[in-house]
Amino acid sequence: MPIEIAAHAGFCMGVRRAVEAAMDVARTGTPSCTLGELIHNPQVVEMLREQGVPPVSSSGEAQGRQVLIRSHGVSRAVIDELADQGCGVVDLTCPFVDKLHRIVRDEAGEDCPVVLVGEKEHPEVKGTAGWASGTVYVVATPEEAEQLPDMPRALAVAQTTYPPERWKAVTEVLRRKVGELKERCTICNATEIRQREAKELAARSDAMIVVGGRNSANTQKLYAACKALCPRTILVECAAEIPPAFANNYSEFIGITAGASTPDGSLKEVVTRMTDIENKDFMAEVEATLVKIRAGQTVTGTVVQVTEDEVCVNIGYKADGLIKRSELTQEDVKLGDEIEVEVVKVNDGEGNVLLSQRNIVNRKAWEALMAKYDAGEYVDGVGKEAVKGGLIADVDGVRAFVPASQLSQRYVEKIADFVGKDMKLKII
Ligand code: SF4
Repeated sequence: MPIEIAAHAGFCMGVRRAVEAAMDVARTGTPSCTLGELIHNPQVVEMLREQGVPPVSSSGEAQGRQVLIRSHGVSRAVIDELADQGCGVVDLTCPFVDKLHRIVRDEAGEDCPVVLVGEKEHPEVKGTAGWASGTVYVVATPEEAEQLPDMPRALAVAQTTYPPERWKAVTEVLRRKVGELKERCTICNATEIRQREAKELAARSDAMIVVGGRNSANTQKLYAACKALCPRTILVECAAEIPPAFANNYSEFIGITAGASTPDGSLKEVVTRMTDIENKDFMAEVEATLVKIRAGQTVTGTVVQVTEDEVCVNIGYKADGLIKRSELTQEDVKLGDEIEVEVVKVNDGEGNVLLSQRNIVNRKAWEALMAKYDAGEYVDGVGKEAVKGGLIADVDGVRAFVPASQLSQRYVEKIADFVGKDMKLKII
């Protein structure tokens, strides 16, 4: 299951800066709170709450505590209000948003209204409007821009996370309606880069995971963009939310991305989870393809190494098998030969499979002898050694005992006379 993580996934610069600064504040132990949730991520908000930096919804709730301003920024009036209430302020407004505030403050006025292109209810838009000294119009679409009065001059700025194509469409309308239009595109490309990379990844993925808070508009947009290109896209806030059957095919290509307010920890957790699944699936797949062996089983393998003492054979098992020279019946064995071997031991204690060729030959010979015994047929043997009470003979490699009384119909005086002689024998 190949996995690819989008190059730009997780915290953008502004969010990372805010979260790191908030953690520093938490470590100082100064009574503090954040004005609104610091970022759109429940895990981070909860972690800060546990460390004594909870969110409050208004300056009145701060009750003299140090107040952290999130990356969206706030209006000048809110800053003044906090100062009036004796609250210290740690301004974590993203530098891009701060620049937007300064442009609105310095480049517009009573005779130059601001046309702010963005979503009316977005906190960044509300905060930005509060930095203007004159009229502010907020428009989200070209249609809304058409509704604006004709103006001799105006300043056009954008919500930092606004889609560039919408900014372009709105300013085209404004150029017709405003005599002297100052266009200041204040869009930050962090969102656009994430969107572009996520789409490109989703288009070539079998399944896609978007990690981020469900209450984050940014993450939701990322999810919608990926879903349009890859129907098997899921949105999760943490690894535990990944459905067990989501990745059930290890050959599938999985793309992973994360919204700009997703902490590194959540992204890493998801990547680790998927890597674990990948390893488990891969191992299960490998196990399934492996030959299962047991002692006494005959298997066919390929010779992969030949040394003076032993021969190594690949039998498709997780460990190769070893045959000692003494257990080899085929003397001229060479690399690449396919040979039939018997498993003597699955594990010799050092992880090796012990094999024998001789056992097979012996077993085959024995089986042939048994067949001849059952059929009452003669077998061929050679006298080997005179022993007490009879003769040891070799019958197709099997050691056989011929009692002296069975060697001849007459009395045998010297059993040794039969050593080296070919004989027709019957197994009794
Ligand atoms: S998306 Fe851009 S403007 Fe918004 S916080 Fe991140 S870096 Fe700042």
